[in-house]
Amino acid sequence: MNIVLLGPPGAGKGSLAQLLKEEHSLLHISTGDLLREEMKKESDLGKQAKSYVEKGELVPDELVTQLLANKLKTAPKQAGYLLDGYPRTRAQAESLDALLKEIERPVQLALYLDCDLDLIIRRITGRRVAPKSGRVYHIVNRPPKREGFCDESGEPLIQRPDDNEETVRKRMAVYLENTLPIVQYYEDQGILRKMDGAKESEDLQQELVELIDEQARLN
Ligand code: AMP
Repeated sequence: MNIVLLGPPGAGKGSLAQLLKEEHSLLHISTGDLLREEMKKESDLGKQAKSYVEKGELVPDELVTQLLANKLKTAPKQAGYLLDGYPRTRAQAESLDALLKEIERPVQLALYLDCDLDLIIRRITGRRVAPKSGRVYHIVNRPPKREGFCDESGEPLIQRPDDNEETVRKRMAVYLENTLPIVQYYEDQGILRKMDGAKESEDLQQELVELIDEQARLN
């Protein structure tokens, strides 16, 4: 199954992606993670992206689309994919369709996780991540077994520099203006399914299994 995850920052896309990729052996591609890797390597692209990411603004479409195209084209064919954080603009949604047509792997399901701003701020400011394993924790809602360290890899957890309240408000404004309209784009294609992002990802799991089965029957 080829899936696109949509929703505001902090709606739980990353946590849901974690569950989905474990249950359905999907290839999880997060453009936020890809950009952070490039920034860490200090590649040309990483250097260009850095100031946008730090301010909570969108990285220009051409840069992110190039990064995603490289990843998708070299991805193993047998696995379905799970796109997290892309597309974020109408232009990206159109580029994605063109790219996926080229590699004959169209999006089959767009999952939209909705969530309100207060909850998003509480979630994001308490979020801690393990950069290597990709696991996501929360200091109150989903604490690791040993404070400050990942349960799986044992690596120290970090707080993303863009996970502060001011940047979250900025990211939310950017989301409302640029990304929310894409929900309609997938609705028009008849592949959009909505889920309640206020629920914890474990509670969404059963709902998700049913949605995926239902969509698989339709495809
Ligand atoms: P995320 O990890 O998805 O919250 O993304 C973190 C940051 O990376 C965003 O606030 C943007 O600055 C940048 N970013 C990630 N994906 C995209 C995208 N598809 N288009 C533009 N910028 C992106």
